Amino acid sequence: MNQLGQDQRHQNIIRMNRETFDVVVIGGGITGAGVSRDASSRGMRVALVEGSDYASGTSSRSSKLIHGGIRYLENMEFKLVFEALSERKTLFEIAPHLVHPMRFMIPIFKESRVTFFKMGLGMWLYDVLSLFQAPEIHRKLPAKETLSAQSELKSNNLVGSYIYYDAYMDDDRLTIETVRSAAQFGAAVGNYLKVQGVTKGKDHYIVDVVDLLNQTQIQIRTKQIISCTGPWTDIFGSQIENNWKKRLRPTKGIHLIFPRKKLPLHQAVVMGAEKSSRIIFGIPRGDYVIVGTTDTDYQSDPGTVHSEKVDVDYLLQVLKSYFPNSNVTVNDIMSSYSGVRPLVKDDSDTPGKTSREHLIFKDAMGILHVTGGKYTTYRKMAEDAVKLLLNDLPYEKRFEFNNSKTLEPINDLVTENGYREFISHDRNGEEKKLAERYGPEAILIMRPQGDYNLLQREVAFHIENTMCLNIPDYYIRRSNLFLYHRDHGLSKFEEISRVFKDKLSYTDKQIGDDLNALHAYIKKEMGWKTSQ
Ligand code: FAD
Repeated sequence: MNQLGQDQRHQNIIRMNRETFDVVVIGGGITGAGVSRDASSRGMRVALVEGSDYASGTSSRSSKLIHGGIRYLENMEFKLVFEALSERKTLFEIAPHLVHPMRFMIPIFKESRVTFFKMGLGMWLYDVLSLFQAPEIHRKLPAKETLSAQSELKSNNLVGSYIYYDAYMDDDRLTIETVRSAAQFGAAVGNYLKVQGVTKGKDHYIVDVVDLLNQTQIQIRTKQIISCTGPWTDIFGSQIENNWKKRLRPTKGIHLIFPRKKLPLHQAVVMGAEKSSRIIFGIPRGDYVIVGTTDTDYQSDPGTVHSEKVDVDYLLQVLKSYFPNSNVTVNDIMSSYSGVRPLVKDDSDTPGKTSREHLIFKDAMGILHVTGGKYTTYRKMAEDAVKLLLNDLPYEKRFEFNNSKTLEPINDLVTENGYREFISHDRNGEEKKLAERYGPEAILIMRPQGDYNLLQREVAFHIENTMCLNIPDYYIRRSNLFLYHRDHGLSKFEEISRVFKDKLSYTDKQIGDDLNALHAYIKKEMGWKTSQ
């Protein structure tokens, strides 16, 4: 993989000002990253502009699951489930360091909305739709065995459970790796580049962009544009078009993080919310458990979304009803995060019933918009969108750009076999974790660099390879510091800021500003604590 840091960003901005692109992709969440990777792998000249940090929107705020979505079977969304299960298989192959199989348990009680028998049918259907390619086929456990597998579970009225497999992932890192891959294929990518307007010429567009790092203006000339602005689709649409028709029904979802000691889950557990079809996951991740999510209509700017006490109380109440003896309380919550689903408006009466299908449409200016969908199906969505772009090109161009390479490993240093072989080596605690997280690329972090410790080498890696331009972005999306530490990793701030000083010539003022920005972020996400 080539380096992708501040210098490459600078070079890319020079390219953006000079070249004419085949397509400008707006938005660096998983959708924009996927579209950029697909298009650039076909040989198209691509510019990707993200208004904040890559994945800072919904794509770092998901349940972090690559799944078919067992729940959607109830809505008869078979095509969606089939597509998602087939993408799950592809992602195991192309991103083995980011997408991992995970065992799930669905406990069924006498009072459950879905009976044991009906759930069994759903489980068969799930296996059929995955063409029996799941890491393991589902199993049925009677009540006693269910309790042996998960002893903290409520035993009262327990009928039994089903065990099945899906996958977990690092959503932020998968997006960033996809951006890196697009850059490797030749895309000019940049974060903190916000689109302010678009002008249509005779046979091209001019995209007006502001570089938020120094407030300079950039004008990008391009033949086509795809907007992948997720929950900002309507906000961006009404900015560029007078009579914009709203397409979205955005909903908010929050997650809570607990120490696994307090909630000892041996597999992910699927919990049903009382009387609704909503389900809540308890997902073990190393020493922690992620619990979520909520699903409520949300109308404000997605950038201001935050968890509220009512959301926290709701999740805690579901958790307590499933694990009455675990005594989890609000004080056990280490952190929380919230996001906005860019759901496409339909006639559903509740957010939970609103379809997770994606929508690709052209606006009056001819700009293509891709929105909705699920993280899991991003590669397919991207492919569909790029194929639509190709339809508008002359035959020779369609022929030239016919083949995408998105079935190749996302990171050319991390093939499926190479990854398995690399993590099978004997290593100590921290190096083992690095190997599992990065695959063979971990070597870049493991090798000595002056007097830097392992954490500082990891920071340096992200500054040089994932366009990490400030300290909060390292805390929130390049590492687990914010989510999985009670102090959100603040005790490491000095160690980390030293690397920014060395690599990006950070001044003391910049370090102070970043510390304030980090505190402000923590306050926004965790503000519900003070309203207790
Ligand atoms: P985003 O990630 O929001 O990206 C849009 C980007 O556009 C943003 O980065 C934004 O900064 C940028 N942008 C906006 N305006 C401009 C502008 N003017 N100029 C430049 N850039 C701009 N899916 C799953 O498959 N599995 C799950 O487990 C799962 N769980 C979820 C849980 C929750 C709580 C939520 C909210 C969603 C979940 N999803 C899940 C859905 C999934 O996360 C989203 O479908 C996906 O992340 C959307 O990605 P996106 O790129 O379309 O949007």
